[in-house]
Amino acid sequence: MEFTYKTYLYTVMKSGLLILLFLTGYWVIGQSPWMGNTSPDYPTLIRHLQKLDKTSDRMSMYIMGPSDVPGLPIYLCVLNAGKDSLETFTKAQRGTTLLFNNAIHPGEPDGINASLLYAENYLKLDSVNPTDPLVAFIPAYNVGGMLNRSSTSRANQNGPVEYGFRGNAQNLDLNRDFIKMDSENARTFVQIFHALKPDVFIDNHVSNGADYQYTLTYISSVRERIAPALRKLIYGTLLPQLTQDLKSSKWDLFPYVETVKETPDSGIYQFNDLPRYAMGYASLFNCVAFTVETHMLKPFPNRVRATYDFMVSLIRWSVKNARQIEQARENANEWESFRPYFRYNYTRTSEADSIVFKGFKAVVDTHQITGLGHLKYDRTQPYQKSIPFYKCYVPKDSLPIPQFYIIRGQELRIIEHLRNNGFLMDVLKEEKKLRVYAQIVRSFDAISKPYEGHYMHTNKEIERVEKWITFRPGDVVIPSNQNGSLFLHSVLQPEAEDSYFTWNYFDSYLQEKEYFSNYVFVDKIRSILQSNPELRQEYEAKKRSDSEFASSEWQQLYFLYQHSPFFEPSYMMLPVFELK
Ligand SMILES: [Zn+2]
Repeated sequence: MEFTYKTYLYTVMKSGLLILLFLTGYWVIGQSPWMGNTSPDYPTLIRHLQKLDKTSDRMSMYIMGPSDVPGLPIYLCVLNAGKDSLETFTKAQRGTTLLFNNAIHPGEPDGINASLLYAENYLKLDSVNPTDPLVAFIPAYNVGGMLNRSSTSRANQNGPVEYGFRGNAQNLDLNRDFIKMDSENARTFVQIFHALKPDVFIDNHVSNGADYQYTLTYISSVRERIAPALRKLIYGTLLPQLTQDLKSSKWDLFPYVETVKETPDSGIYQFNDLPRYAMGYASLFNCVAFTVETHMLKPFPNRVRATYDFMVSLIRWSVKNARQIEQARENANEWESFRPYFRYNYTRTSEADSIVFKGFKAVVDTHQITGLGHLKYDRTQPYQKSIPFYKCYVPKDSLPIPQFYIIRGQELRIIEHLRNNGFLMDVLKEEKKLRVYAQIVRSFDAISKPYEGHYMHTNKEIERVEKWITFRPGDVVIPSNQNGSLFLHSVLQPEAEDSYFTWNYFDSYLQEKEYFSNYVFVDKIRSILQSNPELRQEYEAKKRSDSEFASSEWQQLYFLYQHSPFFEPSYMMLPVFELK
């Protein structure tokens, strides 16, 4: 039988229990339809929320933009909302706001049920304080994945009975799409994010990997990448208090278990929340960001309850600490505006702290079918011991921050992305000649198989060459000293891990458009060398030192062509310039 909220209510009412359960408050969590081993499919979820929206003025549901499925939008539910959307989003931007994202991986739907539980309990409260933080949630972000339901795509997961698929309709993992923005979902997310300007952002997931005792784990931002004020708030205040608070709900909160070797005994790593991930993206805007990862082998209702309790504890903490959150974020913005260098390529060090871990003994057994040794975790042998925790990162590289970036007007997609991310810019109205630094690609590699639809660039060598460049009407000038500048540098500095260059936005600039014919060009080399004595010296030296060069007409001619006025100046020059 299909178990819906309606049939549940009907059954309860018929048995005359409803009033009693309301009075005891027990059904609120324990007997809620969202605490079983099912998670609603997309139409049921949206219909149910639309009903709540209609019947209560404490929750508003907004259509925020298109998704990966034509005709089906991405919705946003807001608790403690204003009278209309204008009032809601103004209130969100001015006050403290938390944003929860659900079903970016629809096979991991714990957040959907937890958000439904939270919303329903909130709507039942006798009274609410309108000055409390605004709580918003995206009920289901990956719409295409929600529609692709089965009971099989999460082979190792303990419920629910049915769930959606990880990839969206384009088979993209949306939790890698926040910079490259190949999906409509990502573009809509940017609208949501900047309409709310959340102070706290949570992306709800379910883990894969080793078995251990914890149900509730989290990823927090790499300490070294975020502003000192936020580091102090998250690691000095928020996490210790949240851990304490969740203990009273009987949950041990533990960092995400990314193991060094196969089992956690070998130690765990701090996850590197690059800008491509939801929480990495949010942290570039000085948002307090977490990924919640419940453990796949724990029963679905327990995972929902843990996700719900995390939500409740975090909201409670945010109510109490609203002023401190605002203050830390203001300090972070200020810190950003005085930084002379952009640091990137954060790499884990070999320095390990020790952390007390509650695991299960790993044993190797011979499998009856394969006949091979295989790893398993023996739940009858729980243990508690200290393991290494590699949580320190250092930025391997840094670049001086320019005062302005200038982007060529033809890069409409990038200009639109930056505008949607809230960056102020000046569009040139007339031609202007400026002394700027051009970003010239000297060398790069690309991965051999596509990752999330891209042959991403690696081993990037970029030279910044000072030049007079004539800019045209339509080119845009972006001051780098503005809120969110970490995002700006992360996408516009080509060497950065998740820059637009890395994600293939500028590949057309990496190809020569004109060539020459040897038999014609060979007659020009005398005059080229005569007019450039330095080049002549370099050419002669290369001939002496490089025998392959000395014996190849093509190599010699191409060398001289490259250093002559015939060579196209735009080759390998990115359409982004830096004004120091
Ligand atoms: Zn996930």
